[in-house]
Amino acid sequence: MTTKQCVFCNIAKDPVHPSPIYRDERVFVVKDINPKAPIHLLVVPNQHLNSLAYIGPGQVPIMGHLFVVAEEMARREGVTLSGFRLTLNQGQDSGQELDHLHLHLMAGRKLRAMG
Ligand code: 5GP
Ligand code: ZN
Repeated sequence: MTTKQCVFCNIAKDPVHPSPIYRDERVFVVKDINPKAPIHLLVVPNQHLNSLAYIGPGQVPIMGHLFVVAEEMARREGVTLSGFRLTLNQGQDSGQELDHLHLHLMAGRKLRAMG
């Protein structure tokens, strides 16, 4: 898939796109179109990183920033104390659907054990 066809690249490149509920110079956050929990957000880097296989020391700042923003979103949603889950799907066996790396934030109900 080229970045032209990538749904997240299209949002990243459009500064007035209506979907993001949060945006800064490096990442944006959207509500998952098919939520699996009452709160299901996607924290997405503007840059098209398509696999953890290509993450190296140069990407440490952006990977760290994804977690900082996820925590900020959890705080805004009021679930810091009740709890939430951050998930990053990587590759076929994880069920990864979109090849533009992103962090899922899920909360608002008791989440089942992972497996
Ligand atoms: P993955 O399986 O790649 O980790 O997660 C992809 C997620 O993106 C899925 O939970 C799916 O519901 C969501 N999704 C797919 N297409 C779109 C879209 O166009 N907009 C938004 N906001 N979410 C999407
Ligand atoms: Zn992309």
